[in-house]
Amino acid sequence: MKCRHCATPLDDALLDNVFLDLGTAPPSNAFLTANALSAPELYFPLKLRTCPRCLLVQVDEVQSHTALFAPDYVYFSSYSRSWLAHAELYVEKATSRLGLNSGSLVVEIASNDGYLLQYVAARGIPCVGIEPTTGTASAARAKGIDTIVEFFGLDFAGRLVAQRRRADLIVANNVLAHVPNLNDFVAGLACALAPQGVVTVEVPHLQQLVERCQFDTIYHEHFSYFSLHTIRTVFAAHGLHIWDVETLPTHGGSLRIWAAHSGSDHSDTPAVAAALAAEVAAGMLEMNYYRGFQARANAVKNELLSFLLQQQRDGRKVVGYGAAAKGNTLLNYAGVRSDLLPYVVDASPHKQGRYLPGSRIPVVAEENLRADQPDIVLILPWNLCQEVTEQLTYIREWGGRFATAVPTMEVG
Ligand SMILES: [Zn+2]
Repeated sequence: MKCRHCATPLDDALLDNVFLDLGTAPPSNAFLTANALSAPELYFPLKLRTCPRCLLVQVDEVQSHTALFAPDYVYFSSYSRSWLAHAELYVEKATSRLGLNSGSLVVEIASNDGYLLQYVAARGIPCVGIEPTTGTASAARAKGIDTIVEFFGLDFAGRLVAQRRRADLIVANNVLAHVPNLNDFVAGLACALAPQGVVTVEVPHLQQLVERCQFDTIYHEHFSYFSLHTIRTVFAAHGLHIWDVETLPTHGGSLRIWAAHSGSDHSDTPAVAAALAAEVAAGMLEMNYYRGFQARANAVKNELLSFLLQQQRDGRKVVGYGAAAKGNTLLNYAGVRSDLLPYVVDASPHKQGRYLPGSRIPVVAEENLRADQPDIVLILPWNLCQEVTEQLTYIREWGGRFATAVPTMEVG
């Protein structure tokens, strides 16, 4: 195995560079139909290493991305209200900051069902979405969003520029970590970007993942884990310069970087130097920072298991909320099955009636909660904790309580 960015060999045992080993698991978005329950599932190793040279934390590329993002991929962005609000605010900020208008072009990579570009289109700004999954792309087109079904990379970027033109703004939210060929993707960004254009990238921040022990955000489809230092290194290798950075609460703590061609007119804000200094102060340039994470992840897993076993002994019923990828990592690593967590509620009709990969816990509609009146609802996507708690506040009527497992077991 070689580093996805700098090609340094990574699998030498003497390197002591294992960041986290979660054993084996099926792809976290491979939800099962009832018919599939009688068939076996494919499990893949889930092990992360730190590159000693560029410090990129990365998972082995275990299978082709076309297999991971199957046509029946069930994640539709628009089903999360807080995510829509986040997208709308971003569009408001970016369009006014960059002075975008009806003569501009906005390109979004991994545009999903048009959750973000709908706000760009509403302002009369031309835009095009790039989305590899046909189901979500069809949903975007139904909203009137021009969408191309493709994986983004240098080759595609060249064709896009030839057919249309270079973009004034390229948006890549929560996709950089999912890109198997990182260098090709970033080279594509540089290729598709107008001389004074801007790329914004939102990516979970590794510093937050480590500090808050968010090991459940690790799954096969999530190949790379970035500090600002590593993104800066990767971007610089392709002639892109980061001139601003924001920290966001999304996905447990993300970075939003603003980049442009090196030598463009965009001048650096003080936030870039401040964020880089904070990473140095945290020790992120030293390999020691990346060791010892396994023990902390194991502690979270053990605490969840103890909690579920204790509730069962005490005769209390615990059910899950949120059939998200991070829940699947946690449940599979902890070995939780339907005897400890009989079902998981999810708002998306595309997931209801299916079963979680690996744990095979059924996904049901919210109506089940009122009928069943469980004692505790374990919220798996802790990043949506507040939204879910407000939405399900009625469980208090029968004395129901909420729980989260990461970074520590909390019941309230
Ligand atoms: Zn490297």
